[in-house]
Amino acid sequence: GSQIVDKKVDSVCPFCGVGCLLTYNVKDNVIVSVDGRDGPANHSRLCVKGRFGFDYAANPQRLTVPLVRKAGVPKDPEALNHLNRDTADWSDVFREATWEEALALSAGGLQNLRDTYGKKALAGFGSAKGSNEEAYLFQKLVRTGFGSNNVDHCTRLCHASSVAALLEGVGSGAVSNQVNDVEHSDLIFVIGSNPTSNHPVAATWMKNAAKKGAKIVLADPRITDIGKHAWRTLQFKADTDVAMLNALIHVVIEEGLADQDFIAKRASNYEALKDNVKGYSPEAMEPICGIPAQTLREVAREFAKAKGAMILWGMGISQHVHGTDNARCLIALVTVTGQIGKPGSGLHPLRGQNNVQGASDAGLIPMMYPNYQRVTNKAAHDWFENFWGMPLDNQPGYTVVEIMHKALVDDSDPHKVHGMYIMGENPAMSDPDLNHARHALASMKHLVVQDIFMTETAWLADVVLPATAWPEKDGTVSNTDRMVQLGKKAIDPPGQAKPDLWILQQIAKRMGLNWNYQGESDGVAAVYEEMRQAMHAAISGITWERLQRESSVTYPCLSADDPGSPTVFIDNFATDDGRVHLVPADIIPANERPDAEFPFVLITGRQLEHWHTGSMTRRATVLDAIEPMATASMCGDDLQALGLHPGDVITVESRRGKVAIHVRRDDGTPKGAVFIPFAYYEAAANLMTNAALDPFGKIPEFKYCAVAIRRG
Ligand code: SF4
Repeated sequence: GSQIVDKKVDSVCPFCGVGCLLTYNVKDNVIVSVDGRDGPANHSRLCVKGRFGFDYAANPQRLTVPLVRKAGVPKDPEALNHLNRDTADWSDVFREATWEEALALSAGGLQNLRDTYGKKALAGFGSAKGSNEEAYLFQKLVRTGFGSNNVDHCTRLCHASSVAALLEGVGSGAVSNQVNDVEHSDLIFVIGSNPTSNHPVAATWMKNAAKKGAKIVLADPRITDIGKHAWRTLQFKADTDVAMLNALIHVVIEEGLADQDFIAKRASNYEALKDNVKGYSPEAMEPICGIPAQTLREVAREFAKAKGAMILWGMGISQHVHGTDNARCLIALVTVTGQIGKPGSGLHPLRGQNNVQGASDAGLIPMMYPNYQRVTNKAAHDWFENFWGMPLDNQPGYTVVEIMHKALVDDSDPHKVHGMYIMGENPAMSDPDLNHARHALASMKHLVVQDIFMTETAWLADVVLPATAWPEKDGTVSNTDRMVQLGKKAIDPPGQAKPDLWILQQIAKRMGLNWNYQGESDGVAAVYEEMRQAMHAAISGITWERLQRESSVTYPCLSADDPGSPTVFIDNFATDDGRVHLVPADIIPANERPDAEFPFVLITGRQLEHWHTGSMTRRATVLDAIEPMATASMCGDDLQALGLHPGDVITVESRRGKVAIHVRRDDGTPKGAVFIPFAYYEAAANLMTNAALDPFGKIPEFKYCAVAIRRG
């Protein structure tokens, strides 16, 4: 910040769910640097992405003009296997269009399909990278304009299973305690998460607490950096979460460490849980999960006896066909030990995207209206019909992966998806089994993609609408800690790019919806205020006006003088009867196990420097310079056994696809596994992943599929 700048604008980091507040330093309509701001989640700290990942907004590859597919140019999903994002010339495929033409084509194409094939023929993917207001308006467009609940976003690929278990168990999908509450924990249980890379500033609070005497337990098939700060690391065999967690619960009950008073007053279905874990002694589970029984007993005792024990988890828990069961076990563990509803304890599913919490709250999910009101609930359905003044479908819509399946079904299926509107998501990189997903996208009779770059998904579109990046607009986002936070516009968008909220309203208007959001912040304030009403009590005390003053307010927040509730469930859970509903879980194997032909396990995930499909961070100069190319991590033993050296090129192949990639040595990767981040289009990890779904959360099994590895 020592440069002379024209202005300093307060906003929020656009990357992860930690939600660090920051200040953009702007000169000549360009962000020249970023400073950490003293927000409640970050206390002025930023990680490398927040500090250096800003110049994607000024990248010359930004979309600046609406584009329309040229007549007769086919959609070729196979071409994406060889496409170079940086050098590909899209002028053979698309022509430039005016906004008027592009909007008329977008809305007209969708409307035609709706009129020809019925309301289920359309679907929409919104974005957890957009604001709450954009999420709210997008789902309203799909429900009232498209006419179905076929609306979803990347939460389906993220914490859908965690949320399914939490709604069932404690009545709310959000975290019970905020990350920096770990300063009140004696024991910090991190499972299926690599916080140093994926929630870096959150990881600093955990490390601070460890320095002051808290014990970190890292439970993960991959031992990552946070393991260096851990009191115990449980490197359990991938896919054996339920076995290990049930063993911990078994010890608590068997050794008389259960909090009987808490259970009697605040839990239901305890006897069923108790019966179920009888068969899961640590001695019986040791050969299954690979953790010595004695270590499991030690950890369980420490967890039960801690003044406060908090569980923080990531996609390692959620992205399995048994993701919901994994989360049920975590809920059971804190319940039998009474480790919830007090400081330094509780359940914290670490949210990935900056606004995946907020987009879900705002109703960007197929089974629920804003604030998790089920579309099948008659009272909720009637309330929203009245509130929006439009007839609404009362059947849940399809989820992300289901929509892709529904695009490829026979034409006679009345629920076949024929057209889509995708705002700020890149499923042609982020969905499981990309060859399938790309064929599904290419098969759409009409695909409208709104984004800031020519993503792999946009390559398959009929119309591409150039939108604004986060620093180019006002809006709110909600972080992993339930903080609603305000970002202000710092720079103007390039060329003819337009705010997403404007584009949404233009499409809505052309589909016959009479919306009129005007006034402060180009109508953003009006949308926020409508959303605040739709969300009922949850954020009723967080007015737009209050956000201008305070920047960040935690919900639940019921009134103007309510400071917000950092810790919830102190007296009651959010379930109908106010009690935790315990659900026993049994071992279910991964959908696809290694065998002689495909002997390795592929684990996908992220890395510190790159965000998701890389469309932003790989265009951020500093981040790209630190991690310029795709790598696959394997442990030294496996490298040696295969005669490989770090830097060698290997082919990783599953039943669905393959990539060529440089291998890197990482002894934290378990034997028999390979880890690949999904940020690299030139070695897209999701070509190989399995689209098998968890039956409750409908989340795909990104964390486990079988692959073969060979040199070259
Ligand atoms: Fe941004 Fe997350 Fe890094 Fe904070 S920790 S600066 S929110 S990426």
